[in-house]
Amino acid sequence: MAQTQTPTPAPTLRISGAVRTVVDEDTERDGDLLVRDGFVVGADGDGTDGEDRDGDGTDWDGTVETLDATDAVVTPGLINAHHHLLQSAFRTLPGTRGVPMATWLPTMAAAYADAGIDASLLAASAAAGVAEGLLNGVTTVADHHLNWPLEASVDDLTAVARATADAAARLGGRLVFVRGSARDAATDAAESAEAIVRALVPGAVGGVRADGMLQVAVGPAGVHSDSRETFEALGEIAARHGLRRRTQANEQVDTAIALERYGRRPIDLLDEWGWLGPDVTVAHLCDVTPDEIARLAAAGVTATHAPGCDLPMGWGISPVAALREAGAPVGLGTSGGGSNDAGHLLADARLAMQVAPLVGPPLSARAVLGMATAGGARGLGRPELGHLRPGAAADLCVWDIGGVADAGVADPVAGLLWASPGRRPRHVVVAGRVVVRDYALVNADERELVAAVRARVGR
Ligand SMILES: [Zn+2]
Repeated sequence: MAQTQTPTPAPTLRISGAVRTVVDEDTERDGDLLVRDGFVVGADGDGTDGEDRDGDGTDWDGTVETLDATDAVVTPGLINAHHHLLQSAFRTLPGTRGVPMATWLPTMAAAYADAGIDASLLAASAAAGVAEGLLNGVTTVADHHLNWPLEASVDDLTAVARATADAAARLGGRLVFVRGSARDAATDAAESAEAIVRALVPGAVGGVRADGMLQVAVGPAGVHSDSRETFEALGEIAARHGLRRRTQANEQVDTAIALERYGRRPIDLLDEWGWLGPDVTVAHLCDVTPDEIARLAAAGVTATHAPGCDLPMGWGISPVAALREAGAPVGLGTSGGGSNDAGHLLADARLAMQVAPLVGPPLSARAVLGMATAGGARGLGRPELGHLRPGAAADLCVWDIGGVADAGVADPVAGLLWASPGRRPRHVVVAGRVVVRDYALVNADERELVAAVRARVGR
């Protein structure tokens, strides 16, 4: 059964009274923001709508819902470009902290085996992960799903993808489901990817459903785990359906295993296996040389920075400023709860700023906010996301800056990231619908989502 389409039209919204609206990395403005049919129309009185039939001095007539943005900064909705939603039910597990990747992987695998990966587990963990994201301002999440039920039918695997999609749909968030693999046989991965495309986004252009709320992509975990055959098989599915391709590379362990197994570095292998191109986004990229940065940029590859995972795992710090300088767009991701116990992208944006000077030039707050919005959208091939220019999808956050944590802040946009660690948005809008209002989920009870995880995994 296909996903149900948007049931009712989104309301007309006026985002009213904001101190400042961040339109994109280079543009900010004052005044109310207007949203209609799920898209940004423009600023009130700027002539973008041009009609004032009732003569009240606004561009708008008819029923308009006002969303209070007084004492607040409005930004585009954040895009978590690299997550593993399954891991939201597997945080702070004993034996997964302060250990090398060679210990982390089997410890996580044992926990998954103990819980049994199936649709019911993803229904609980993905709902928690998507809800956590929404409460933190993440309006689009790319879920790189790597771990699948063992010895299961294609339908069972598709059910896992569908459970994830249904969880996001119920909460009102946008989802990119990345059919990942980790040591899957190439033919199995391809067969399952094909089935997931047909089930979740039938007939979609570029893997994006017509309403934009669901996208499917493919992504082997990396050259350290997946064979050339798997990369090529998933690449073929991507080519057939116009899907985006995503993988992970150059964590230290990835580089070490590639050298040991193939005598080559991961970027060499990705190149040889046909996985360097403008449709490819590579997460992590910690241990990357200047020459490799140049090759990635020349191939049009986009990157995802995940410092909230890379630092605690001891993988190092991706030279993000150098990647951007070379012309490779960079998005921001949290990666999963098994390595980054939080799914708080704004907190990781702050971390990205804090650690950047250790590996190169500093990154400005606006640059990092741009990574957490338009940068992620670029890698997903979604030009309508990550900004608030007229015509943009109306995904936005209203961030209160009226509390003491923001007292004395001279630059409210820089303050969003530098001041008030752990900041959460007052309101969140996705596709013109309010999904978080006054710091609470609109479409679900937070405590029920927690109870569902507890019931399923006992934590
Ligand atoms: Zn990851």
